[in-house]
Amino acid sequence: MNQKINFKIFIFTLTIVFSASIFLSFSNSSFAQEEKIGSGKKVLFVWGGWSGHEPEQCKDIFVPWLKELGFEVRVDSTLNVYTEKEYMQSLNLVIQVFTMGKITGEQEKGLLNAIKSGVNIAGWHGGLGDAFRMNTNYQFMVGGQWVAHPGGIIDYEVNIINHDDPITKGFSDFKMHSEQYYMHVDPINEVLATTTFNGDHANWINGAVMPVVWKKMYGKGRVFYSSLGHVAKDFDVPQALEITKRGILWAVGVIK
Ligand SMILES: [Zn+2]
Repeated sequence: MNQKINFKIFIFTLTIVFSASIFLSFSNSSFAQEEKIGSGKKVLFVWGGWSGHEPEQCKDIFVPWLKELGFEVRVDSTLNVYTEKEYMQSLNLVIQVFTMGKITGEQEKGLLNAIKSGVNIAGWHGGLGDAFRMNTNYQFMVGGQWVAHPGGIIDYEVNIINHDDPITKGFSDFKMHSEQYYMHVDPINEVLATTTFNGDHANWINGAVMPVVWKKMYGKGRVFYSSLGHVAKDFDVPQALEITKRGILWAVGVIK
């Protein structure tokens, strides 16, 4: 009789231990999901404008990566989303790949008010730095505007000038075969990487040192910009991809 009771207690204990371990392994895995760096953060990815900059292909590089990190991502290919005031205020980050094109006054106001109030923004090349050429308030937010890429697709070097910043830390200078962006830039930009022009395609700019990667504030919003990424293939250069990813993570606030 005693043996039977002992056996029952043994089975009972075994069942408790087994259920507890199942419960723990489940709660551990859901805990691991909650631990993802993007968890609880909202990103709006807006793509469009001039198709030569391959905004859709670029979307396919960055959106799956963001989702993998746990970010809640909305993808939109129109600018009207910028007028959704409440939604814009709920965001942690806007990524915009929208070269040239036109933005209405209301859309521009929606975007700029959101950034000013603490929604952050990241982008690259013409998608951020050559959008809405008529809109100087927009350019005031970005901290620069593309004006030329002498020689078109050429070989040039990117020089890391800040080796302590989390966006460029650990990188050495590297080469690109792409457009070397000549920009009009804001003196408040915190420049992390530059490129130096030679005079091969415009002799009067020989020796000009131009920002390539910068970060800045616009009101309470963080702004990250890199001029790398003319086409999706440019992100095959590991440094170009990694700097852009880190810039996005800095802008959204997960790396400081
Ligand atoms: Zn380009």
